[in-house]
Order: sequence, then structure tokens, then C-alpha cells
Amino acid sequence: TDIKELLLSRIRDVADYPEPGVMFKDITPLLADPAAFTALTDALAEIAEGAGATKIVGLEARGFILGAPVAVRAGLGFIPVRKAGKLPGATLGQAYDLEYGSAEIEVHAEDLTADDRVLVIDDVLATGGTAEASVQLIRRAGAEVAGLAVLMELGFLSGRARLEPALRGAPLEAL
Ligand code: IMP
Repeated sequence: TDIKELLLSRIRDVADYPEPGVMFKDITPLLADPAAFTALTDALAEIAEGAGATKIVGLEARGFILGAPVAVRAGLGFIPVRKAGKLPGATLGQAYDLEYGSAEIEVHAEDLTADDRVLVIDDVLATGGTAEASVQLIRRAGAEVAGLAVLMELGFLSGRARLEPALRGAPLEAL
């Protein structure tokens, strides 16, 4: 489709970043192009509305950049899920495994309620570890997961398969 071509044309492949052998997908050219950024925001807002979302959760850091305008466009609240130690209030945390070691993400639990249906937004789905932890965190905070939407899915890393049990039927949309 047209939008897919537009978005793809604004993503830059950076070889050997952040380490040798990795082809990094850089979205900064897309952010710098108002037509592409607007098209992406509109498409994600449509997904949020279709999913009946009441809140947008953005995953640090590029999920903040993509998710915040979607929340405004769709008339929904925005909630940041951050790396551990960055949020000042009472947090819920969720640890997850990385290739080497582990990481932890946190949310201000009081910003989510049992009435909330949450659409999680991030730029890139790679192994799915970050997204899986965010889904678990949102449920532990008492809210429902309406779905996960990403700009791009790196299919060869099989994040979708890893996420499927955690999503419990909620949709995973990759633009
Ligand atoms: P995962 O947990 O392995 O799925 O990694 C996903 C997280 O890493 C997301 O928050 C992405 O922003 C980031 N990430 C992984 N690979 C890339 C990439 O090629 N470009 C931009 N972000 C990436």
C-alpha cells in the first residue's frame, strides 16, 4: 500500500549499530518528514480507535515519540513505561531477559485502572522481550491489554511468536 511504501522509504538502515553484525532500523528520517510522521500517527490512532483503547502506553524511548501524538489525536491519555529508576512515584516493575543479562521496566501503577483498555505502542518489535514485559506489567497494574501496535516488526527475530501467549488474543499490528 501507499502508506507502507512511504513509511519504509523513511526508515534508514544503519549497519553495525549499536554493535557489529546488527542492522539498526533508524526512524529519525521518518520523524523529520511531516507527511510520513502524520501518516504514521493517523494510522496508529485508527488502530487505537478500532481496538477501543482508553489509554496509550508508550515504551521508552521511541515509543514515547510515536505514542504521544497518537494519544492526542485519538483523545486518549498517555502513559510512559520507562526503564527502571526513572519514574518518581510509586511504581510497578517487570523484569525480562536480554541476550546478555536482564532489564526492568516500570510504570506508575496508579495511572492505570481496571476500566482501562491499553494499546501499547513502540517503534520496532525485535525479539518481543520488551513488549512481552509491558503486557505483563499492564495486566499486573489491573488494566486490560487492547493490543500492541508497532511501526515495524523484524520478522526474522520471531517476536510475534514469543508474544502470542502473552497477548491472549489481543491483536499485534505492524504497519
Ligand atoms: P525487543 O525487546 O528485542 O523486541 O527489542 C525491542 C526494543 O528495542 C524496542 O524498544 C526498540 O525500540 C528497540 N530496538 C530493537 N531493534 C531496533 C532497531 O533496529 N531500531 C530501533 N529500535 C530497535
